[in-house]
Amino acid sequence: MATTTTTRNPDPLPAGVDPCDLPAHGHKALHLAEARERIVAAIVPVEGRETVSLRSALGRVLAADVRSTVDVPTHRNSAMDGYALTGADLPASGTASFEIVGTSWAGRPYEGRVDRGQCVRIMTGATVPEPTDTVVMQEHVRMVAGNAVIESGHRIGQNVRPVGEDIRRGDVALGAGTALTPARLGVLASIGIGAVEVRRRPRVAVFSTGDELASAGEPLAPGQIYDSNRYSLHGMLLRLGAEVLDLGVIPDTREDTLRAFESAATQVDMIITSGGVSVGEADYVTETLERHGRIGFWKVAMKPGKPIAFGHFGPALFFGLPGNPVSVMVTFYHVVRPALQALMGATEPETPILLRATCATRLRKKPGRQEFQRGVFERDATGKYVVRITGHQGAGVLRSMSEANCFIVLPLEQGDVEPGTEVDVQPFAGLV
Ligand code: AMP
Ligand code: MG
Repeated sequence: MATTTTTRNPDPLPAGVDPCDLPAHGHKALHLAEARERIVAAIVPVEGRETVSLRSALGRVLAADVRSTVDVPTHRNSAMDGYALTGADLPASGTASFEIVGTSWAGRPYEGRVDRGQCVRIMTGATVPEPTDTVVMQEHVRMVAGNAVIESGHRIGQNVRPVGEDIRRGDVALGAGTALTPARLGVLASIGIGAVEVRRRPRVAVFSTGDELASAGEPLAPGQIYDSNRYSLHGMLLRLGAEVLDLGVIPDTREDTLRAFESAATQVDMIITSGGVSVGEADYVTETLERHGRIGFWKVAMKPGKPIAFGHFGPALFFGLPGNPVSVMVTFYHVVRPALQALMGATEPETPILLRATCATRLRKKPGRQEFQRGVFERDATGKYVVRITGHQGAGVLRSMSEANCFIVLPLEQGDVEPGTEVDVQPFAGLV
């Protein structure tokens, strides 16, 4: 059970941080990496903390360092099933015979004496009895008249795991800002920690604007399309561990838009909208933010995805993403996701994994923007990665995204790509 120690009020934006301190529209477009860095730098993690049990902690971010109160392992133990003996008794050549004086089981140590020339049968994980210091695996031992006969060629100290080999008592096992993966849950359990202090989940409101939008499950009026962005955003946010407040489709009126922002801002840390942020467009999102909050347009040299609006409304951060469904996903992964991770208090820098793959198809690309085409990559019979695009790459063609398993990342100055050329691919694994 989670015990929340905070109120529902989101943490206010810290004084001095102005996420709108940015280049105005019309200036030279920013490189994606720089835009991302600037945005992440403007974000202060949520203050709230709660204590959650390990089973509820997957994906959460540690609010404080976790120090170990134990050594892992706590006792010298055997890495093999075999025989524990004193290494000095190992034969330099030929064989040596050892009398077996007892057994050390995992969890049930041998407590008798072991003298020189004697050995103890030992199981994996069992305490290595004093004064022995070496384990010979059972496959290397011959039984002759009830004694263990061992040949030369072994090393003193082999197959013994020292105390604290994994984690030492007093060490920081996991630092504040660590996002908890399954392996890290295991590490916490290995030091006996059953519950951890994590930052509270960030709360994110999502709404769509546009009179052309209907929600899934509703009938479609002439000229309308179904809103897909709210649903893909919902999925991406849940994956990251955010709490999502779905405010639906907001009608294109000044009053409805203001009301949506006002109601969201008292409940959430971040508001994400899609569509209606192109320059010059008569839309109420921009107007509302200009009048009652702060908004800046980030012209980022990426495709799909420019421009992105960033700002705040009251205490809530604001991201205005482009309307096209593929643009929403691409800008979310490359801009909003790192911002949200910063909001969650995660301190590990985001380092996307890029692989080199041979492009099987011709790619159309104009220099001047970093492009994220959608592809399917696989290993060919010779073990080399080969990638092809997922059909039509229009920013509105969501199937290009749903059928892909990677982005094909084309650098700023790249032109058309001919088949057979090597390109960078960013696998979706771990992302989507
Ligand atoms: P906009 O940025 O508002 O001009 O929208 C660009 C394109 O994306 C238009 O074709 C819109 O109809 C479409 N679009 C905007 N919002 C959504 C949405 N929530 N779901 C699906 N398509 C959308
Ligand atoms: Mg629109």
